[in-house]
Amino acid sequence: MLIVVSGPGGVGKGTIAELLVEVHDNLWLSKSWTTRSRRDEELEDSYLFVDREAFEQAIEEGEFLEWAEFHGNLYGTPWPSPPEGHDVLLEIDVQGAQSVNKQGLECLMVFVDAPTIEDQALRLRGRGDSEEEVQRRIKEGERERSDATDLGAIFVVNDDLDKAVAEISTIISSYRDREEKG
Ligand code: ADP
Ligand code: 5GP
Repeated sequence: MLIVVSGPGGVGKGTIAELLVEVHDNLWLSKSWTTRSRRDEELEDSYLFVDREAFEQAIEEGEFLEWAEFHGNLYGTPWPSPPEGHDVLLEIDVQGAQSVNKQGLECLMVFVDAPTIEDQALRLRGRGDSEEEVQRRIKEGERERSDATDLGAIFVVNDDLDKAVAEISTIISSYRDREEKG
């Protein structure tokens, strides 16, 4: 089973994804590749950080389930190889979600949003994004909300973090039940 969590930058989807894999021990979080440089406070294993040449070579070799260019950097999801019995969780941007959808892969689409654009901006600034990045991510968010609606994603507002994680957990559990019943 494939679960896709997407949403605008800074709404908290990365934080939520980390918590979801702690709550669900049969959920496996895919690690993306990126050509972006690592932020100071970011863990070394939050992505596989590579240069553009290595990324482009991996594209040519068909190593990605999907990839996208976002704000001048490349991001990609390698074909997942979860441990036996695990479901796959992808935390990707909306372009990536569209690409998963285009490939006809059966999945659960969740779109995480901040309660307001002001909250999104505060979170981005709090994380250390430059003012230019903040404005760009907010602007992108408008199109992403509309694209996610077209994809039929389930919208979850990340107001209280624990509440958002609990809500997505319930959505995952009911999707699993439905899948198991066929
Ligand atoms: P994204 O992956 O969507 O870009 P992050 O997970 O990096 O976003 O979160 C952006 C910032 O917002 C981080 O500093 C994170 O700690 C903070 N954050 C996440 N969820 C909440 C929340 N519910 N309330 C307040 N701050 C939050
Ligand atoms: P950031 O630079 O803030 O870590 O991520 C920028 C955007 O790229 C976010 O919306 C994030 O979800 C998205 N992203 C992260 N990994 C992938 C991936 O593998 N594929 C795609 N398409 N987007 C990704």
